[in-house]
Amino acid sequence: MPGCEICDDTTWKTVVVDGIPRVARCDCWHQRLFESLLARARVPRRYAHCELSNFERHVDSQIEAHRRALALVEQFPVVEKGLLFFGDAGVGKTHLAVALMKEAIRRKGARAVFYETRELLKVVRDTYNSSTEATEMEILKPVLEAELLVLDDLGTEKKSEWVDEMLGLVINTRYSERRVTVITTNLSDTANTDPNSFAFQLGLRTRSRLMEMCHWVHIEGPDARDLGPHPTSADIARWKKESPASPQNRGRAGLPSKSGGQAKAFLKDRERSSPADLKWPGGRAGSKS
Ligand SMILES: [Zn+2]
Repeated sequence: MPGCEICDDTTWKTVVVDGIPRVARCDCWHQRLFESLLARARVPRRYAHCELSNFERHVDSQIEAHRRALALVEQFPVVEKGLLFFGDAGVGKTHLAVALMKEAIRRKGARAVFYETRELLKVVRDTYNSSTEATEMEILKPVLEAELLVLDDLGTEKKSEWVDEMLGLVINTRYSERRVTVITTNLSDTANTDPNSFAFQLGLRTRSRLMEMCHWVHIEGPDARDLGPHPTSADIARWKKESPASPQNRGRAGLPSKSGGQAKAFLKDRERSSPADLKWPGGRAGSKS
């Protein structure tokens, strides 16, 4: 390790407070702590550049989302509610979640963990395979116990009873332990007949739990991947008018095509398995809840 010129590798330095010399941890010690906490947080390389300072704010909702992210870092770890960023692809939800997490690590020494939801489910599922050494609980423990968890892209996972149970375990545990959770999702808060809605994808019980544990922040704005970096207001106006991804160019017909045909079948399954999760007028036959 290269030597530190400030502390000569003692990790302590002298600071003068009110004319009195004292010892304090050296900058190199803080930097190493940050790097080791950051490494354990598992931020994917493609988000390594994301900071609160370089989050692009073109519209009011992006400014508001950024303000909320900064406020969470400032209050951390005494935070009443986490954050749930929802909105279309490319508006900066993951950037903001990663940025606030890094800032909480840097400024507050937060023990934080980032997981893309589908990746988490895959890693847990892989532990059932006898060739992997990690156990289910070894994977889940840091997720359940992190002071700050970012669960990225919730709602794109393929639904199954196991997926419901696993996500329910993560969300319910963090809820009852009052741990800070930040979620990003493309889901919309529409009726439970919409396959892209919270109610359809996650069930009404999980939706209401998420409402209790997170401030919901809707982020709108141009798709940064569509538009490129540092767009001018003219670029944004043109994007709004011309891009097929612009909200004004998408009708109800523009729902994600992946779920269209299967929507009714899915909904039937949900009704059978958890009637209480839906506003279901029928009887309680076969229901555990
Ligand atoms: Zn040093």
